[in-house]
Amino acid sequence: MPGGVNSPVRAFRSVGGAPLYIKSALGSKMVDADGNEFIDYVGSWGPMILGHADPRVIDAIKRTAENGTSFGANSELEIELAKFVKRLVPSIEMIRMVNSGTEATMSAMRLARAFTGRNKIIKFEGCYHGHGDSFLSKAGSGVATFGLPDSPGVTPTTAADTLNAVYNDLASVQKLVQQNHGEIAAVFIEPVAGNMGCVQARREFLQGLRDLCTAENILLIFDEVMCGFRVARGGAQELYGTDADLTTFGKIIGGGLPVGAYGGRGDIMEMIAPSGPVYQAGTLSGNPLAMTAGIETLRAIDEDTDFFSSLEEKGAHLERGLRDAALEAGVEHQINRVGSMFTVFFTRKEVTDFTSAKMSDTEKFAEYFRHMLQSGIYLPPSQFEACFISVAHTREDLDRTIEAASGAFTTVAKNK
Ligand SMILES: *Cc1c(COP(=O)(O)O)cnc(C)c1O
Repeated sequence: MPGGVNSPVRAFRSVGGAPLYIKSALGSKMVDADGNEFIDYVGSWGPMILGHADPRVIDAIKRTAENGTSFGANSELEIELAKFVKRLVPSIEMIRMVNSGTEATMSAMRLARAFTGRNKIIKFEGCYHGHGDSFLSKAGSGVATFGLPDSPGVTPTTAADTLNAVYNDLASVQKLVQQNHGEIAAVFIEPVAGNMGCVQARREFLQGLRDLCTAENILLIFDEVMCGFRVARGGAQELYGTDADLTTFGKIIGGGLPVGAYGGRGDIMEMIAPSGPVYQAGTLSGNPLAMTAGIETLRAIDEDTDFFSSLEEKGAHLERGLRDAALEAGVEHQINRVGSMFTVFFTRKEVTDFTSAKMSDTEKFAEYFRHMLQSGIYLPPSQFEACFISVAHTREDLDRTIEAASGAFTTVAKNK
């Protein structure tokens, strides 16, 4: 396997050491092949908002599996999940299930181009929208972690149709729209960014984007693969009160199994085959196991009226503890947090976009990461990723994490 991994972000290249090989996971904890236990803040990069191996999800998967794992024909489970998403995210009038976030964003892009009859898209530096050719330009996540230039293998013609704007900077979008007037099909954005570390969009910025897109007949596409069902029951659209024309989902919607989805305005979605001419298909799309894991996860989120307030409380407690520890150690830091998503940056300046995220001292991050791992805390092995808290994280887990961070920050401060 290239780099010993099946996805680059799992390697420890930017922090040093050997990547973990996990044997089992339960609740907030994971156990590696050597028997070491870790409190997990990666959460499979977002899906495990209930914690690992939640019995409700696992039992439902077992029952479903006994009736067959894939039919290549429709099942009621697809309808159930579609209805669930529609109810939680009101801008979704129609939805199509796929197998990953990457598939969702690639399909939404093709659809946006077909609907508008335009070729170019605008995205934001530091946002990650999966590994589709068009999105691998100034991308976040692994592309940012490894400091890769735009990926080889993407043709210059493809790359030329992707324009990058600055996160939280509406003027940078307006300028691109003016310079390419009538040519922009869609603006893609992570409305809460998690792939340059956690960076929150300003409310006025998102509303400004909405107004600009409406005025220019550009589709506004919220990539909620990470923040959907994470930052609020209805995702970022609920949090900000701003609707998207199309939305992409992944991660939580699959409850730990491979699922993605894209949906939105009915007049746009009607263009997807077989109701319309835009082709998109999938052998395993909507398969019963993945639908079941998604349904059970959304059900657990939906049924618990305290779900998001409890996550917010855990997040706030951890943030407070980490901040106090960093202040006490005298480490320059910024903690960005939206509910149960957060990132500790090692910089004095506020982090609002990719440029300010890259000001973080990644050497210090690596040191912090290694110290935390030694103390039994598993963080994403990159500065440019978000940490995730699940409802399974206990107060004791959080306090142990703060204690470990206290030691880590002291080490970081000593070695400057
Ligand atoms: C993870 C992620 C993707 C890609 O999803 P995959 O399932 O890894 O293909 C796309 N967009 C965002 C915002 C993501 O966080």
